Amino acid sequence: MPEYIEREAAMKELMNDAPEQVGYSREDAVDCIRYMDAADVAPVRHAKWEVVIGSDGKEHMVCTGCRKQQDLTGVFSYCPNCGAKMDLEG
Ligand SMILES: [Zn+2]
Repeated sequence: MPEYIEREAAMKELMNDAPEQVGYSREDAVDCIRYMDAADVAPVRHAKWEVVIGSDGKEHMVCTGCRKQQDLTGVFSYCPNCGAKMDLEG
């Protein structure tokens, strides 16, 4: 499973680990990053809204990521059910 770190935290960690230290090697830098705590992130899921006609004859929005029907009154850029980002084209 991939792990992620924050850019600012990594830069700060490297500067604190070896501020202008002579002989600080790439291996030292790799070790510095290796032992950082992973950031709390989740992979971004991508989907789009699909208009379907329900059994009631009305239009409903369905998320292509989780297939959950949403009766939304506005346009949402994220699915409130699965959290997918609604940026898929076509
Ligand atoms: Zn969804």
